[in-house]
Amino acid sequence: MEHSFDTTAVHAGRADLTALGVHAPPIDLSSTNPLPSIVDGGDSYETLASGGRCAAGQSPVYQRLWNPTVARLEDAIAELEGTEEAIAFASGMAALSAVLLTLVQRGTPHMVAVRPLYGGSDHLLGTGTLGTTVTFTTPDGVAASLRPDTGLVILETPANPTLDLVDIRRVVAGAAGVPVMVDNTFATPVLQRPAELGAALVLHSATKFIGGHSDALGGLVAADSGWIEALRRVRAITGGILNPVAAYLLHRGLPTLPIRVRAQQATATQVAAALAEHPAVARVMHPSRPGADPTHLLDSQMAGPGSILAVELLGGFHAARRVAESLTLITHAVSLGGVDSLIQHPAALTHRPVPPEARPSAGLLRLSVGLESAEDLVADLDRALSATHRHRTTARAVGTAPPVGVAR
Ligand SMILES: *Cc1c(COP(=O)(O)O)cnc(C)c1O
Repeated sequence: MEHSFDTTAVHAGRADLTALGVHAPPIDLSSTNPLPSIVDGGDSYETLASGGRCAAGQSPVYQRLWNPTVARLEDAIAELEGTEEAIAFASGMAALSAVLLTLVQRGTPHMVAVRPLYGGSDHLLGTGTLGTTVTFTTPDGVAASLRPDTGLVILETPANPTLDLVDIRRVVAGAAGVPVMVDNTFATPVLQRPAELGAALVLHSATKFIGGHSDALGGLVAADSGWIEALRRVRAITGGILNPVAAYLLHRGLPTLPIRVRAQQATATQVAAALAEHPAVARVMHPSRPGADPTHLLDSQMAGPGSILAVELLGGFHAARRVAESLTLITHAVSLGGVDSLIQHPAALTHRPVPPEARPSAGLLRLSVGLESAEDLVADLDRALSATHRHRTTARAVGTAPPVGVAR
């Protein structure tokens, strides 16, 4: 990176715009492209289908193989994550699917996965839908879980939805040369660059912070050229490429990514502190909270606690339901990382496919803090929590307290 991170976020993937005589990146919607000749067309096809890049002046042939608007986003993310290249998919799950298919092709279909993971990832690995097998473990259990056919170790930090921090360097050491993939969706490259810590692959649901406005789905993998070529081969065959309009929107999110992430995490830290004081709250999970970072990863691995937090309510499922449904400023919806705050119940929604023993508790809500003021967010939460707390106290007084912690 030639410039500072923030400057790169503004300019990455835009270096040729002035020469093109434009200021906003052009959106190329061509599903197919003119071929200069059969021989040249055939050569392009061969290059792209075998995982190569489309050179300047070469025909992209067909959008499933290559798209210049998508390629701009890919180059920008590679710069921000500090990897040789990157590749974009239609969603985060499409990106993960391509990684798993690459492992199957290589004859190393076994994965070691550090729990907790995003519910969809846990489900895809746990069901073996794409022909992979998995050993779920803890950060300390990675070394003992390796097998001769282990192709990848996967982890998420901060983890979803508990916000546990996982020491990437330690997992890389435990993996003993087996490539490690870090899902960097929650941290973004603003706060954490896993490739610098030894991760071979960095995965994003770009749907979240990178887009930042809850209006485009996308997935990204940043890695060295060997991995990216293999993933481009899989993408060309299976068709999971990102749509160019979504690529434009996700690329447009990058210049504001650093300031959004920093502003949102400052607010999240204030909201977490306010929630921790509330009598209806059993526990607040956010890396900023006392005791949440025993090994000081906020100094050595991550440049801040991020803006996702989880709150465990004393009143269990019933309290969680009342809070989620009675907020007025914060929207009750899945997803995260956007400019407005969202709250959701992981056990019922994002982590519903996770087996019961690994599912989040019934009284847990996950909050993605947006760009609203901390005061307004705290007021909304306080009102919803206090109503819940009053209800619970009254219900107990008349002997009709709902069973605490019932699932759904
Ligand atoms: C949302 C999410 C995914 C899946 O991404 P999609 O874009 O929804 O397919 C993967 N990992 C994490 C951490 C996520 O939050």
